[in-house]
Amino acid sequence: MRKPIIVGNWKLNKTISEAVEFITAVEPLLHDDADFGVATSYLALQASVQNARRLIIAAQNVNENDSGAFTGEVSVGMLKEVGVKWVVLGHSERRQYFNETDASVNAKTLKAVANGLTPIVCVGETLAEFEAGETEAVVRRQTKAALSSLNPEDVANLVIAYEPVWAIGTGKNATKEIAQNVCALVRDEVKVNFGVDAADKVRIQYGGSVKPENIKEYLSEADVDGALIGGASLKVDSFKAIIDAVKA
Ligand code: 13P
Repeated sequence: MRKPIIVGNWKLNKTISEAVEFITAVEPLLHDDADFGVATSYLALQASVQNARRLIIAAQNVNENDSGAFTGEVSVGMLKEVGVKWVVLGHSERRQYFNETDASVNAKTLKAVANGLTPIVCVGETLAEFEAGETEAVVRRQTKAALSSLNPEDVANLVIAYEPVWAIGTGKNATKEIAQNVCALVRDEVKVNFGVDAADKVRIQYGGSVKPENIKEYLSEADVDGALIGGASLKVDSFKAIIDAVKA
């Protein structure tokens, strides 16, 4: 049985003090029926780790190099020193606005895993790809590429987030049937490349306009093991409603 994992991706939101205020308010509300986390800005990571007890604190990106002339970047060593253990990789906004490719997402995933960080690897098709019927091909390609050269045991322990780009921040969430179908395809791609044990263990989230009102229906699907949540993770009230909604 895979434990659900619910992570708020705060994107370019929340200062350090806002992050600490949110975490302090949310910590007493957490329960054991799911793992919960937030992905904060780099700046808010240290204070967030210091104020979190049960809440997973994730970075939203990391550079694949250990050090060097890469202005503006952050390394795994820097994340580890402030106590970060999780990192979101390959989010569609990073692919779209910051030129991340399947190859760079793979390099980051390998670097994170080699250094003991748990990645949340994002995959998902654009609206044009969805309309052209290319969802399966795109999501299989992204999944295979992102995880290339990992061991099955490493794959078993990480998280994959299926986020159709057309559902992100649009209010047009995918139906639970679409989420289930594509998460099942992702799991099958893991099985093809890493075997049945990794496929059984890897947790696969759906992301895209998840709200307190719809989270439960996603989690009722066999291959959806959680959610990656943008807008609805920003307010304590709606995050609390999500925490309450996923109580078994
Ligand atoms: P929304 O929940 O705002 O659609 O964002 C989803 C997302 O991109 C999470 O990573």
